[in-house]
Amino acid sequence: MTNLVTTVAETVESTPDAPAIVYEDTELTYEQFWTRAGQFAQALDDRGIGAGDRVGIYLPNLPQFVTAFYGTLRAGGIVVPMNPQYKAREIGHLLGDSGAKAVVSLADNVPNVLDVVAETDVEEVVSVGGDVDDATTFEAFLADETQPVVDRADDDVAVQPYTSGTTGTPKGVLLTHENIRWTTHANADVPHGGFQATDRLVGTLPLFHIYGMSVVMNGAMYSGGAYYPVPEWDATTVMDRIEDEELTIMFGVPAMFNDMINHPEVESYSLDSLRFVNSGGSSLPMEVLERFEELFGVELYEGYGLTETSPVTHANREGARRKGSIGKPLDGPGDTRVEAKVVDEDFETVPRVEAGPIDEEAADLHEITGELVVSGPNVMKGYYELPEANREAFTEDGGTRWFHTGDVCYWDEDGFFFVVDREKHMIVTGGYNVYPREVEELLFEHEDVADAAVVGVPDERRGETVKAFIVPTPDADASPEDIKQFCLDTLAEYKHPREVEFTEELPRTTTGKVQKFKIRDEE
Ligand code: AMP
Repeated sequence: MTNLVTTVAETVESTPDAPAIVYEDTELTYEQFWTRAGQFAQALDDRGIGAGDRVGIYLPNLPQFVTAFYGTLRAGGIVVPMNPQYKAREIGHLLGDSGAKAVVSLADNVPNVLDVVAETDVEEVVSVGGDVDDATTFEAFLADETQPVVDRADDDVAVQPYTSGTTGTPKGVLLTHENIRWTTHANADVPHGGFQATDRLVGTLPLFHIYGMSVVMNGAMYSGGAYYPVPEWDATTVMDRIEDEELTIMFGVPAMFNDMINHPEVESYSLDSLRFVNSGGSSLPMEVLERFEELFGVELYEGYGLTETSPVTHANREGARRKGSIGKPLDGPGDTRVEAKVVDEDFETVPRVEAGPIDEEAADLHEITGELVVSGPNVMKGYYELPEANREAFTEDGGTRWFHTGDVCYWDEDGFFFVVDREKHMIVTGGYNVYPREVEELLFEHEDVADAAVVGVPDERRGETVKAFIVPTPDADASPEDIKQFCLDTLAEYKHPREVEFTEELPRTTTGKVQKFKIRDEE
């Protein structure tokens, strides 16, 4: 029998009484959690929902997410995770597109589901955190009996997340049991001796996103560690929790680490229980990395991945680490691994540079960069019912199916990869290419800058021009002119932001990506 959940069943057998989920003052042992997942599976089965059927989970990080997730998989179903910040129209698209038959929603969000339910195949609405008309409460939904695990094949779909959609319409991503199981194992086995049953993982990354789901939640369940769900990111809450509960592993996004180092009382925290900390989801500015390590005395590793790759494809590791790099392609059990290379428009391999990172300012980026393509056991089956998108996403070459990441990278002779920028974000100004990340990295070095995002805005003469949005630190006194001059002192003239705007906050997705289309559209 092959199933993503069989590994969890093994954990339950070996450590039934160990804590699986710790939330506020409640703790579920592995046995208790597994029983509830089985009751959820039985409840689905009672309603004729089973193998191959989709179940939407529209929840923040709560114990019920974990139960519903493994319960759905136990029943042979497919999880469609949905961002709890989405409104009716957005979830209407996801539920309609996926054909979900049931939804588990936060009570406060049930009205959003009911608004669109008539246009979907949803037959059952389950509410968490309150009793709402036309929905069944989570506790009432659970059956008395537990259902055994329904057999699924390696390449059966387990999860159908939708890509975070900083651009375009969200696409359903078909991730199989093997895709996720492989990534979770490859990721959890390596860092610092691997995740252990004694580890306590802080669940700050949203579970509706594959990073929080596959790496953190699944990683905990696979290793027998305890998972501490955090429904909403808040630096104080999380830093208190790490300190009080002596949490040992944290995966986050750069915006979280940036919040932590800028915490007004940062000096009073001691987070030395943390033994492994990893950043992913967007580029980790060098300034943030160094400050974090200096303040907390723990190394901050960077990894890289996408929803389509379940998600990790690259990671820095103890003994194989290069700051500023996304690391090397992930190795898995046996001789399984992610293959990765950098290609040009003709799919010709771009030569490697000598040991990176290179001086991007001095280099001819055109010569050494290209698109990162990957293949491996974690690459999705495809986008759901989108043949055209699937044709564009893959290139068959020499018997290998390469997935196009859309990220511009270079690679070095030591095997490290470096993201320069996402293809779509590149700014073309007066015929020159500007990679926003380079300008953002510099801005982060300015002492008055707490957060920064660089975008291209329309310009009559140059087509586009560079604009920087800056969140200043509380005691900042630099003017926009000072910031411009600071960039001009270091960067080629065409790269410096001709416009600088101070703002209170940058719009970010919950996985830390700045929603650049939003700030651009405000023009
Ligand atoms: P998502 O599908 O939401 O996981 O977004 C995937 C995208 O996040 C990638 O294509 C990259 O553009 C970006 N990303 C993830 N990790 C990193 C990283 N370490 N550095 C730069 N970009 C990253």
